[in-house]
This record gives sequence, structure tokens and C-alpha cells, in this order.
Amino acid sequence: DLTIDQLADWLRRFAGIVEQNKSYLTDLDSAIGDADHGANMARGTAAVVSHLDEANTVDALLKKAGMTLVSTVGGTSGPLYGTLLMKMGMATGNVTQLSTAEFARAFRAGLDGLIARGKTELGDKTMVDALAPALDALDASVADGAQWPDAAAAAAAAAAAGRDATTPLIARKGRASYLGERSIGHMDPGAASSTYLFDALVEVLG
Ligand code: ADP
Ligand code: MG
Ligand code: MG
Repeated sequence: DLTIDQLADWLRRFAGIVEQNKSYLTDLDSAIGDADHGANMARGTAAVVSHLDEANTVDALLKKAGMTLVSTVGGTSGPLYGTLLMKMGMATGNVTQLSTAEFARAFRAGLDGLIARGKTELGDKTMVDALAPALDALDASVADGAQWPDAAAAAAAAAAAGRDATTPLIARKGRASYLGERSIGHMDPGAASSTYLFDALVEVLG
């Protein structure tokens, strides 16, 4: 299970990894975007951390985190990450912990919301290319009866592979799509930052 304190720790560690990799994310975005992904994510996740102790239930925690990202990030990534966490919160209840399967199901609802909002498909060279394979790996672990540390590690490995696989793709969504073929050969910044969600989960559970 994942308690509400562990979920808060998950978001805190996500913010920490983003902060550590802020200039890396900005470098990725300077190649195929507008060089603000590191600053956007660092500002948004720091704001999320500042509100973490306001919530007493899992749904409230995740919804507040999502709304905070929508209102503080500025870039395209804010509403998308925000939708992910808000829809994830809406798929949980007024509870103080989630089983592995409940976490995976809620995360799936969040990803479905992000995909609907971004009108994105797998292979468009976006954060979805890291998130979707990671969640597929998480679901497979749940189906196999695997427990947390292993399930999180499998998801993190799949996210990293999905992120790496964005490099040869042509961007079809977001600013990078304006570059057309010139987006080939560069890793997608949002795919890179979204792997940190799974690295943070490994840290919390490891
Ligand atoms: P902006 O492009 O507005 O400056 P960011 O730089 O913070 O915003 O975020 C860019 C990232 O957002 C991209 O690397 C990509 O992963 C993601 N992104 C952009 N558009 C979409 C979309 N329609 N669906 C999913 N992700 C998207
Ligand atoms: Mg940008
Ligand atoms: Mg921008």
C-alpha cells in the first residue's frame, strides 16, 4: 500500500528531482522548444510542495497538487501534468491509502485525462510516450501480483525506455511540432520530466 504520507513524499521527491535536473530539462527544451521546461516544472512542483500538508485525504492531496500545477506552471506542461494529478485524485476516494492496484487504476484515469486534454497519441513525441509504457508496466506488475518495490522499478525502467525512444521521432504536438523534421534527434523534454514521477516512486518505496 501507499499511505497518504508516502504519496505526499512522492510529490516532494518529484519536486526534488525536477529541481536537480532543472537546467537539463531547460537544455532539452532549448533544442526543440522555448527553453522554459525546467523553470516551468521547478516553479510548479515547488508550489505543489508548499501545499502538501493541507490535505488529509488522498483525493484532496492529488486534486490540490493538480490544481496548483495548472495555476502556477504557465507552459503547456502545467495543464497537462495538472490534469494527470486532478483526474488521478478524482479516481481515488476520501481515503488515506491506496493499494498498488488502486494507485495504478487512478494513475490510468489521470493519463486518460491528460491524453484527452492534449489530444495526443503514443508516438507524438510527448510526455505520453514515457507515461503510457510506464503505466502499462505497472499494470502488468499488478496483474502478476508483484508488490511495490518491483512494480515501481519496472515502471521506472519502462518510462526511461519510452523517453529514450522519443529522440528519433518527429514531434506532432506542442511547440516542437513547429520544427517538423528538425525535431528528429532530440529527446522530448516532457518525456524526460515525466520519468521523474517514477524515479520518485522508486525513491519513496526503496
Ligand atoms: P511550453 O511548450 O508551453 O513551453 P513546456 O516547455 O513546459 O511548455 O512543456 C513542453 C512539453 O509539453 C513537451 O516536451 C511535451 O512533452 C509536452 N506537450 C506539449 N504538447 C503536448 C500535448 N498536446 N500532449 C501531451 N504533451 C504535450
Ligand atoms: Mg517550453
Ligand atoms: Mg513556454
